[in-house]
Amino acid sequence: VVSLRGVRKNFGDLQVLDGIDLDVHAGEAAFVIGPSGSGKSTMLRCVNSLETYQGGQIWVGDYLVGAERKGDRWVEAAPKVTAARRADIGMVFQRFNLFPMMTALDNVVSGMRMVGGVRKQAAERRGMELLDRVGLSARAGFYPSQLSGGQQQRVAIARAIAANPRLVLFDEPTSALDPELVGEVLDVMRDLTREGMTMMVVTHEIAFALEVADSVYFIDHGVVVESGPPSQVIRDPQHARTREFLTRVR
Ligand code: ATP
Ligand code: MG
Repeated sequence: VVSLRGVRKNFGDLQVLDGIDLDVHAGEAAFVIGPSGSGKSTMLRCVNSLETYQGGQIWVGDYLVGAERKGDRWVEAAPKVTAARRADIGMVFQRFNLFPMMTALDNVVSGMRMVGGVRKQAAERRGMELLDRVGLSARAGFYPSQLSGGQQQRVAIARAIAANPRLVLFDEPTSALDPELVGEVLDVMRDLTREGMTMMVVTHEIAFALEVADSVYFIDHGVVVESGPPSQVIRDPQHARTREFLTRVR
């Protein structure tokens, strides 16, 4: 579903992504680990066009991110095209980014109504199903400020999957949570991997990656140092930098 080939990105003199190759296959969860500042968030943001990139290619399904086909060549994608593509990718952030003035249900439903044009009743029925899936149907009428961090993040996940996106991106979804709330969010993510959701997950939860990842990429200074199945990259890393990172985060 997603493939990055030689992706390069710089902010001025700072080379943040320096030739990234990465693949996420349909129905699989690719996990990205690496030190702070290594370019993980920037890479996710490039995939759903929140950032532009300067070199290489990012493919999502049949389209090249940032470009659209005109006849037999690719030209820069129109803003409308980019917006439609972005609506087909869910994103979950470290800070839950819910709308504070909306209830949990309205947060989940908002994207569906605005982007999908689904009628209100159908959208709300689907919204309740989604809240049920993340264990929060009893909290539908609560505002974000009335929910714990773990509950807010579960609402954010329900919102991210509401429009049946082809891909969901997670950027350190549990790192802003109190330790006792991490498990409930990982439980929801684990369910999604079992249901065959295609996911790209940036996280420091190494044990969780070992348990559910289909592939793991260790990134440092904007390059993939090492990648493969979790049993290899996490249990038996080949590179000194990977080993050093893993001893630090565990
Ligand atoms: P963390 O684990 O701390 O979230 P990360 O791997 O997600 O780190 P990024 O947020 O992708 O790292 O940042 C990579 C580098 O790019 C950092 O050095 C950061 O300061 C820089 N950077 C990120 N966004 C911008 C920006 N908009 N302008 C300039 N520099 C930026
Ligand atoms: Mg980050």
